[in-house]
Amino acid sequence: MRPSPVSCTIDLRAPGKHIGHLAIPKITNTAGWASTFIHIASVANGTGPTVLVLAGNHGDEYEGQMAAMRLLQELAPDQVTGRVIVVPVLSPNASKANTRNWPSGANFNRSFPGRPDGPPHEQLADFLTRVLFPMADVVIDMHSGGRSAWFLPCSHMHVVNDPVQRKAMLEGMEAWCSDWHYLYIDINGHGLLPVEAENQGKLVITTELGGGGRTPAPIHRLAWNGLNNVLRHVGVLKGQVQTRASMGLPPAVIIDGRDPGNIVVAPEDGMFEAMLEPGDPVLAGEPVGRLWFMDSPKRPAELLRSPVSGIVVVTKAIPITEQGDCVFVVGTPIDRAALL
Ligand SMILES: [Zn+2]
Repeated sequence: MRPSPVSCTIDLRAPGKHIGHLAIPKITNTAGWASTFIHIASVANGTGPTVLVLAGNHGDEYEGQMAAMRLLQELAPDQVTGRVIVVPVLSPNASKANTRNWPSGANFNRSFPGRPDGPPHEQLADFLTRVLFPMADVVIDMHSGGRSAWFLPCSHMHVVNDPVQRKAMLEGMEAWCSDWHYLYIDINGHGLLPVEAENQGKLVITTELGGGGRTPAPIHRLAWNGLNNVLRHVGVLKGQVQTRASMGLPPAVIIDGRDPGNIVVAPEDGMFEAMLEPGDPVLAGEPVGRLWFMDSPKRPAELLRSPVSGIVVVTKAIPITEQGDCVFVVGTPIDRAALL
């Protein structure tokens, strides 16, 4: 395969702290021989794991981007044993536009493994796949619900087949110390960033840090504190690892979201009213929300009911709804022992 067209302005193997950028070739009507900058930092000291900290995979998910920006600024080499590579904003043009997808329409989280001769999002995905992931022992990819969804703030994971990798991912997920954790499956296509890293055998830790177009202070604290504790947990950041028990908190609840039937979509266009909040318990058949019809004001709202008894995990954050939009997700608590 041809070499990556993406270049990096810093030596990722050098000790110490270095801040630079990746350059994706770009030619516009106003600038030839140009490039798109994807900022990157490396903080390395001594021998230890390499941890890749990623955010802004989706543009409108800002919680992780700000935690990663802060890490880029505050992390010093003497705090590190090994190497931390930070890419705080993977999709800067989407982030600036407050959109999930790139302005081209590409969903970066469906772009892996990527191609060196593809469009820019595939070139960047290919650079991660062939350059950054092979350098890393741990890959952290921070997401949230973005504008469109209010997601129970949590760290989450795929239930991978390999039992050693699965146990490491479970413990890494738990090290975020969020109140909730979530087990997710891939729907709506393939080519996810975490799946490529998982396929390369990495310890992959991912999050859904709220969303809904607002980034409340408690979510920023969860993003920052969770990220730092995970870095201590994997041994790259010096300091005492915290657990929920050491913080005086009850055990987290792990929600199993692997049944695709628990992802409920709108039967037709309308305005979605959530009747329950993420984190609320729900019974099978109980309404989670209702759909109003602005062109038929005398028509009663249609109740949208939970397919199972469990916990509400996601509600749609933008009321205006098209037929087929996800309006809510429910899941069922699962014992962690079932994952070992
Ligand atoms: Zn996302």
